[in-house]
Amino acid sequence: MNPTTPADPSPSDAPSPAPARKRRPPRRVEVSRVEVLSPAMRRITLTGAELEGFAPAGPASYLKLIFPEPGQTEPTRPLPDGPRAVSMRTYTPLAVRPETLEVDVDFVLHGEGPASTWAAQAKLGQVLFLMGPGPGYTLDAEATQHLLIADDSALPAVETILAALPASASARVLLEVISAAEERPLHSAAQLEVTWLPRGSNHRAAGLPLEQALRSLPAIAADARIYLACEAAAMRRLRKLLTDELGIPRNQIVGRGYWKLDEVNHPDHDYGDDS
Ligand SMILES: Cc1cc2nc3c(=O)[nH]c(=O)nc-3n(C[C@H](O)[C@H](O)[C@H](O)COP(=O)(O)OP(=O)(O)OC[C@H]3O[C@@H](n4cnc5c(N)ncnc54)[C@H](O)[C@@H]3O)c2cc1C
Repeated sequence: MNPTTPADPSPSDAPSPAPARKRRPPRRVEVSRVEVLSPAMRRITLTGAELEGFAPAGPASYLKLIFPEPGQTEPTRPLPDGPRAVSMRTYTPLAVRPETLEVDVDFVLHGEGPASTWAAQAKLGQVLFLMGPGPGYTLDAEATQHLLIADDSALPAVETILAALPASASARVLLEVISAAEERPLHSAAQLEVTWLPRGSNHRAAGLPLEQALRSLPAIAADARIYLACEAAAMRRLRKLLTDELGIPRNQIVGRGYWKLDEVNHPDHDYGDDS
């Protein structure tokens, strides 16, 4: 009998448990470039032979990075199915270059946190472990109107969505950042209209500039597809504004809580389904 094919269950057989989902093995990567993009954004290039075969899972996909614990110069290699590392955080593979085994990741320097603190001091040769990728945003191939609403943590995700849009589409983009110094050119084959919204350094105001801008937008196309990614409570408020006040059907909106005020390591799968 083929050992991978289970025998037909007899009535007395207990139901077989679902096969455990295997996580991809962690990949050891090293910092090969650190670029200061703006006061609060660092682009860090990670490279290494173990990146062989790594490919992002569509626009706005994610990866996991494991940072050193206090006192460590290099994180411990996690066991593939062992406990999750405490200092593991979620980031966006902004650019992946398989030919040179490189991934670019843009980090917001928001203050204290294993990821942000590490990124602020990142140096060539430092080691992290990388896991993933995880799935991103499924673009509706038929849609021509897109509204992308995001804060700085989701700016890399927005850039990957813009890169995937066809020339026949148009995208209205609202981006909340700490200050005007964070603005950068955005590129897409689609027609773009971009509004940068400086929030100031008070993270407690997260989402307020986006809310104001959304309220003063001219009518949103009835069939617009909306990607909304920012602080978790702000995402819920903005989605409610879109559905309850602006009449957008809920199934046209994908909401993602990318971080949460006063919460360490907010989960990577917060779609706001509880709201
Ligand atoms: C799918 C996905 C993709 C993401 N991609 C990116 C990316 O490409 N670049 C990026 O910078 N972030 C990205 N994020 C957000 C990032 O995972 C979080 O910001 C994460 O909490 C940072 O970890 P930390 O160790 O710096 O802070 P944590 O230890 O998690 O948190 C410490 C404190 O910092 C606060 N905090 C965390 N993040 C922010 C923030 N952005 N602004 C203000 N305060 C914050 C928390 O509320 C908490 O009080 C992504 C999140 C998801 C879910």
